[in-house]
Amino acid sequence: MPRPVQFNIHPKPADPKDNISMADAPDGYVGEGFFATKLNDVVGLARKNSIWPMPFATSCCGIEFMATMASHYDLARFGAERLGFSPRQCDLLMVMGTIAKKMGPIVKQVYLQMAEPRWVIAVGACASSGGIFDTYSVLQGIDQVVPVDVYVPGCAPRPEAILDGFMRVQDLVGHESLRRRNSERYKKLLESYGIQ
Ligand code: SF4
Repeated sequence: MPRPVQFNIHPKPADPKDNISMADAPDGYVGEGFFATKLNDVVGLARKNSIWPMPFATSCCGIEFMATMASHYDLARFGAERLGFSPRQCDLLMVMGTIAKKMGPIVKQVYLQMAEPRWVIAVGACASSGGIFDTYSVLQGIDQVVPVDVYVPGCAPRPEAILDGFMRVQDLVGHESLRRRNSERYKKLLESYGIQ
């Protein structure tokens, strides 16, 4: 008997005028000929709708990510059209799959090569906690080597779950204070990972 699967996607009605949907404007004051808002909100709006993900896929969860990028789910709808395979050009590290302890320093090196501001998603049980591999050789969560912003549960998570995790990151990006990366708290967080 087929498993009932609920796709979290509804067909959109045809738009004969081919209107382009717009991102919501931030809160602010509107008057005749002017709109005033906070710099934080404008930068957040731009950043959250132009995230460049860096996929770090080592096993099965990476296949779910391929489905997430393909036409049916299409991560590009969220402004993340452009996957980067050079960490220096990316701002979102997506770690998908089992990470062996030997691979931990490589994950950290990739993270270090990314410029600030950068965010991290642990996709799936393995990246989040080691998953079913409670063994001597598997890292029990990538947060042992780099700070993680969002964890996506599941083994493997469906593409909807990856999209949901991505939208949680967009929320964080959109509301992040421009001063956060210079704050003492953030510096302490990085220092706890041995990052200057
Ligand atoms: S969480 Fe499950 S599906 Fe994802 S990499 Fe681990 S074993 Fe594979």
